[in-house]
Amino acid sequence: MPTYVIPAPVQVPVPVAEGGEFPVRRVFCVGRNYAEHQREMGHSGEEPPFFFMKPADALVTRGADTPYPPATSDVHHEIEFVAAIGADGANIAAADALGHVFGYAAGIDLTRRDIQAVAKKQGRPWEMAKGFDHSAPIGDIAPVTRIGHPGPTAIALTVNGASRQSASTGEMIWPLPEIIAELSRFVALKAGDLIFTGTPAGVGAIVRGDRLEGEVAGVGTVGTTIV
Ligand code: MN
Repeated sequence: MPTYVIPAPVQVPVPVAEGGEFPVRRVFCVGRNYAEHQREMGHSGEEPPFFFMKPADALVTRGADTPYPPATSDVHHEIEFVAAIGADGANIAAADALGHVFGYAAGIDLTRRDIQAVAKKQGRPWEMAKGFDHSAPIGDIAPVTRIGHPGPTAIALTVNGASRQSASTGEMIWPLPEIIAELSRFVALKAGDLIFTGTPAGVGAIVRGDRLEGEVAGVGTVGTTIV
């Protein structure tokens, strides 16, 4: 064991529905993977998706409250279908991709939309718009051994009980095998990596006190209160 000179950072594990914990290595996210969401953000709906990241310690687990972040006045919710990688691989063929998945969850990609708008306009990175503390609430992971690999399924989010996002994961421009194949061309995927696969239309602002409830049907739920 190394002799650390400061306290070692604590890893945020994600509970697995059947018991045990999923140790998180990295959090990858797909941008603009639903055409309707591309359009609501002012894009064509025909652009190829792309990748960005959040820090692994941005996860909010076990239904904990989410603090409203500083340095913004426009935080948006984005409900997402999340895949948890259980086996390493680089240059993975789409046909082999699902074999690298341990399980699935529902997650929320919280976004400082005001900071993101400035970054887009100035051609700057997205980290401070996407990778802030507590920016990734996530529900428990359902293992493939129980639920298999979900086909197209309902993905939805309510704020204070009112429907905000409601779509099907079948609308994803890149389905999961293609996401894994594409991402693994850029980086060697490792067990412990999470992939947030993009959000459907209906994103919008949240404020302190809001209750967010998300669900990916047949996979799981995610819930958090903004404080
Ligand atoms: Mn997103």
